[in-house]
Amino acid sequence: MASVTFDKATRLYPGGTKPAVDALELHVEDGEFLVLVGPSGCGKSTSLRMLAGLEDVNGGAIRIGDRDVTHLPPKDRDIAMVFQNYALYPHMTVADNMGFALKIAGVNKAEIRSKVEEAAKILDLTDYLDRKPKALSGGQRQRVAMGRAIVREPQVFLMDEPLSNLDAKLRVSTRTQIASLQRRLGITTVYVTHDQVEALTMGDRVAVLKDGLLQQVDSPRTMYDRP
Ligand code: ADP
Ligand code: ADP
Repeated sequence: MASVTFDKATRLYPGGTKPAVDALELHVEDGEFLVLVGPSGCGKSTSLRMLAGLEDVNGGAIRIGDRDVTHLPPKDRDIAMVFQNYALYPHMTVADNMGFALKIAGVNKAEIRSKVEEAAKILDLTDYLDRKPKALSGGQRQRVAMGRAIVREPQVFLMDEPLSNLDAKLRVSTRTQIASLQRRLGITTVYVTHDQVEALTMGDRVAVLKDGLLQQVDSPRTMYDRP
């Protein structure tokens, strides 16, 4: 586990007239669940992608723990990311999907099996390990995508609108599951959503972005109480 620091992190897209993310200053504590919220186009994904190493940083720096990762490739950042289109490999079983990254990394089979089994237990997927993704519900697939990230035991967990493909009812139950999973694992998490209710119910703290600028960072309770 590790904290995350955006130290005046700035992203100006080529040809852009103003930064998509402008001197973002934000510190996420070790183990904290931080939600980045704001309307479409405010810079949430760009911020997350800078943290993941998927987007150049044009000013400022990004740190994970006390490591400056600003110019490190994604694979050296010790992060795992869950996207909204959590493309699972359709021809592979749930277990093989979850273990795939470890297999690529050369981890031995026994260790992969034990990590996959442990993650499956946490995610309530034990009975589904031998199924193919198409034989799962949307919520179960979403949990497989989480499992794929968890087995790598990253220091930081990134989620970009992971619930947006689910129907309204499933969204509510899955957001509870994700929040409680995060608390159980205690893994530092940055979660992006445009949904304010999602932000306020899930986050330890919520950071509000508008037009690439950070407007406010607070605990949900403080935000509710504000007149
Ligand atoms: P959000 O995730 O909050 O919807 P984004 O981070 O995707 O916002 O986008 C922030 C701003 O950057 C928007 O104005 C968007 O149009 C612009 N933008 C995003 N990606 C690119 C890109 N690859 N090239 C140019 N502009 C981009
Ligand atoms: P192979 O992948 O060569 O068929 P294994 O069946 O021993 O060899 O699989 C090793 C792998 O264990 C990993 O890729 C992991 O994802 C997978 N795996 C397969 N079935 C299970 C299971 N029931 N429980 C846990 N892990 C499993």
